[in-house]
Amino acid sequence: MDPVVTRFPPSPTGYLHVGGARTALFNWLYARHSGGRFVLRIEDTDTARSTQAAVDAIFEALEWLGIDWDDGPYYQSRRLDIYQSYIDRLLAAGQAYYCTCTPEELAEKRQKALAAGLDVRYDGTCRERGLPRTPDAVVRFKTPPDGTTTIHDVVKGDITFENREIGDFVIQRSDGVPTYNFAVVIDDITMGINTIIRGDDHVSNTPKQILIYQALGEELPVYGHVPMVLGQDRTKLSKRHGAMSVTAYRDMGYLPEALINYLVRLGWSCGDQEFFTREELIEKFSLENLGKSAGVFDPEKLLALNFDHIKAADPARLAGLLRPFLEQEGYDVDAGPDLEKIIATLNQRSKTLKDMARDAAFYYQGEIEFDPAAAKKFLRPAVLEALRLLRDELQRLGEFSEKGLEGVFVAVMEKTGFKLGKIAQPVRVALTGKTASPGIFEIMDVLGPQRVLPRLERAIAFIEQRAAAADK
Ligand code: GLU
Repeated sequence: MDPVVTRFPPSPTGYLHVGGARTALFNWLYARHSGGRFVLRIEDTDTARSTQAAVDAIFEALEWLGIDWDDGPYYQSRRLDIYQSYIDRLLAAGQAYYCTCTPEELAEKRQKALAAGLDVRYDGTCRERGLPRTPDAVVRFKTPPDGTTTIHDVVKGDITFENREIGDFVIQRSDGVPTYNFAVVIDDITMGINTIIRGDDHVSNTPKQILIYQALGEELPVYGHVPMVLGQDRTKLSKRHGAMSVTAYRDMGYLPEALINYLVRLGWSCGDQEFFTREELIEKFSLENLGKSAGVFDPEKLLALNFDHIKAADPARLAGLLRPFLEQEGYDVDAGPDLEKIIATLNQRSKTLKDMARDAAFYYQGEIEFDPAAAKKFLRPAVLEALRLLRDELQRLGEFSEKGLEGVFVAVMEKTGFKLGKIAQPVRVALTGKTASPGIFEIMDVLGPQRVLPRLERAIAFIEQRAAAADK
């Protein structure tokens, strides 16, 4: 078999939404899995609705997801002469014809046919008239009046259409611009596309496209029409189901591999495995396991997967991804503790990078704000002596190491008779302001003596003041 060639042909009329990204992923994965090629094509013939901003947004989203292409980007708007040459070919072979029926005439015929309960397809007025090209003429494809056209779909099985119900459809408008169904086929032929995976909202277009392949004597591609992604109310996914654009997930602190994993699983399966790395998806992706039923977009499940991918990600890579979120929180990352070390304390706890940036707050804050309830409960005169001792021992220790810190705590425990928990919790509040945080030794190691000692001093002063106030 020839090498697999797939494509992603977005219409640049808006951002890349999660449904579109899933289609791109299926095609990209299949090409990568089979050692084939993946083509990017911008379907921008609808000049009124296509914008450069949307093209840029699509590139940005694909780049973030790590979907790379081998060929393109092609722009349909720059390929009009190619479409024209194929139109000329069909006209010369009598497989297409000029039609001058006006929109008003067509609308009127349609109304009448509807009222009479008759077929509303084009009635073929111009089909045998042999009209020449005129400025207001469109080109129609001559659909065989009888017979059927069948899609052999790898997802849905065979789907058969009566040709009579398809009718003679327009392939080129009077301004010379081809219609979607025509441009897409000419592109797919000339770009060597042999596998097309797309949303099943295109099923009704496919017989028209197959007829064009057949008229041109070209081999058909493999088709796979996947069910659309649905919202939780089982209607087509839309804005009201939450964020739609791929980059919105980036901005909310999702990892690209988590979104990829989630979207692919929303229409493809491999046993009951849920977590896949990008490499595993490439290795295991297959057309056979594309699902027949619609996937329901579940933000909670995506969040859970993101958590798992954060846990599994290399801290050094996370550092680069987390930095903009920290900067957004207003932290000077380079003035803070070592970022990779910070991440190593948080990557089993935070569900998104945005959460992680918030959870990292105490590492960057100059003066820790004590949570009042935590302070009331743990920063009490009873632990004053222990905290002073700890401060003195830490000063003696100098540079921090896990072993050294442990030794210091053991010494303080021995001298005070306190158990570790009794000391650790006040220290936690002193260092983070809160009662929940990563392990106390880890935090201290990351913060280092230059941050830990002033924070301990402040907690000690806080308790002293409290004790003084209570004495009065
Ligand atoms: N531009 C079309 C779309 O975005 C492409 C459809 C196709 O895959 O043929 O829906």
